[in-house]
Amino acid sequence: MTYTQPELPYAQDALEPAISAETVKYHYGKHEKAYIENLNRLIKGTEFEDSDLEEVIVRSSGALFNNASQAWNHIFYFFSFSPDGGGEPTGDLRMAIDRDFGSFENFRRAFVDAGVGLFGSGWVWLSKDNDGKLFITQGPNAGNPLTEGLTPLLTFDVWEHAYYLDYHNLRKDALEALWTIVDWDVVESRY
Ligand code: MN
Repeated sequence: MTYTQPELPYAQDALEPAISAETVKYHYGKHEKAYIENLNRLIKGTEFEDSDLEEVIVRSSGALFNNASQAWNHIFYFFSFSPDGGGEPTGDLRMAIDRDFGSFENFRRAFVDAGVGLFGSGWVWLSKDNDGKLFITQGPNAGNPLTEGLTPLLTFDVWEHAYYLDYHNLRKDALEALWTIVDWDVVESRY
């Protein structure tokens, strides 16, 4: 199967000022695109040619894993945002956040701290296990909680390419700004 890059559900400048149009142009238009092109090139002739992307991520390694996971992670990341996003989660997800982190504010602080504290490139994740318990984890490089048996709900990209054009070295500011565009309807539907 050939993987195609999904169109963004918003205009390239729709996430400003949290993420600039220029960053979306490069991050979605060049980085995400390249991971998907590499995935399609590397998967040819392997046992994974007809596999779901999730299965490739769980079972492959090396360059194929890196590009499969980065393709999945970026698609998941960009679909977590909306120009109408921000605010706070509600419903079952909100109850789980309050239960497992004490409050939404505590969760936000712990999530950003995990992103800031990740040495080098990678991702910070909110995931759930099969019982609905929530976890914040750090995924170095192309890391994805699917490989730990968890279901991803939300991720922030902490590779420098995700924020350097807009925030330079200020990773914490870049992550804090993302709270204004998180589409909690999407995140709740994943829960
Ligand atoms: Mn990225």
